[in-house]
Amino acid sequence: MNREDFPILNEQVYNRPLVYFDNAATTQKPEQVIGAIVEAYSHWNANIHRGVHHLSQVSTAKHESARQRVADFLGAASAKEIVFTKGTTDSVNMLAFSFGEAFVREGDEIIVSQLEHHSNIVPWQMLCERKKAVLKVIPLKEDLSLDIVAFEALLTERTRLVSVAHVSNVLGIINPVEEIIRIAHTRKIPVCIDGAQSAAHLPVNVRAMDCDFYVCSAHKMYGPTGLGVLYGKEKWLNLLPPSEGGGEMIEHVRFEHTTYNTLPYKFEAGTPDFIGTAAFAAALDYIDAVGRTTIQETEERLTRYAEEQLAQIPDIHLYAAGLPKAGVISFNVGNIHPFDLGTLLDRQGIAVRTGHHCAEPLIDYLGVPGTVRVSFAMYNTIEEIDTFITALRKAVQMLS
Ligand code: PMP
Repeated sequence: MNREDFPILNEQVYNRPLVYFDNAATTQKPEQVIGAIVEAYSHWNANIHRGVHHLSQVSTAKHESARQRVADFLGAASAKEIVFTKGTTDSVNMLAFSFGEAFVREGDEIIVSQLEHHSNIVPWQMLCERKKAVLKVIPLKEDLSLDIVAFEALLTERTRLVSVAHVSNVLGIINPVEEIIRIAHTRKIPVCIDGAQSAAHLPVNVRAMDCDFYVCSAHKMYGPTGLGVLYGKEKWLNLLPPSEGGGEMIEHVRFEHTTYNTLPYKFEAGTPDFIGTAAFAAALDYIDAVGRTTIQETEERLTRYAEEQLAQIPDIHLYAAGLPKAGVISFNVGNIHPFDLGTLLDRQGIAVRTGHHCAEPLIDYLGVPGTVRVSFAMYNTIEEIDTFITALRKAVQMLS
């Protein structure tokens, strides 16, 4: 890992070196990814799957090899199982609509958890409203981990799907997704894993995990914005109808009747982001060159160190401290509003996230207006944490 690969890390904010601890919101991009975008627009930009001409063929080959790269990265059985979307939110919306059309009827049940991001709540809630189905919620235990016993008790004959986060974007907790999947599968209930916060931080293998669906966003994986993945086991994707109509997703169009394309194209209406997919492949190459176990160990070390340092600040409340985490820490100090802390940290060059982090049901459950969240990526350092702790102490002093 070479920090110099990430040009933005040399930026100054208010004349201070940038300390970027908002990686759960989006990660920064290495030259290799930025260069892939420049290269694509400079040398082979052309629409895919349509032209007989040379550039279109190059572009198509790059796009499809990126799909294979994603399949390999996630451990999917085939590239047919990789649907490109606009991001995690888009993936969940597509799945909720499509799965809902095929499998959800009045009185059926969908299960999510108390700690989900809004993107893994609202699409299911909308589906439940549309179909008069019921949204059920896995509660948390006192230590804020998922209550697996309560989860098992929620499952009924009417449960159609379970959708949970692999890693909480607020608490950083790594949920026991393998156990959840195993329990759901004993009743033949499919499971969708929201991998927005795991894909770039843990060695993920969808086949080993045995999830039925897995969703993630390229921009949180050192890749470009506006691009994501809906992984689905082929047997499931074959059973689902397309969620959007248009070009690319069709086989033949007649006014009387339209037939749909094969997997995964039937889920990809319109011109896809073929520049983005090429840059995404470069991001995955970058991650694998560093090594996902190395990344996980680095971020674990940073998290442990930051938790130790934070614990020494008087009146601090660290959420879910000590649980297995993937590079995300949330905290509050006394009654200081998180927004005030965030603002004073920003003035010292430190980028953190404050507020509800698009997880209002969890924040309500914690009984606070929000939290301050620091989230790490492979390029963060112990020295940056020291700078942050000094800045935080100063901010707390000013606000107390
Ligand atoms: N789920 C989780 C757990 C997330 O952290 C996020 C992004 N904060 C999302 C879903 C939504 O991702 P996107 O905005 O890229 O669609």
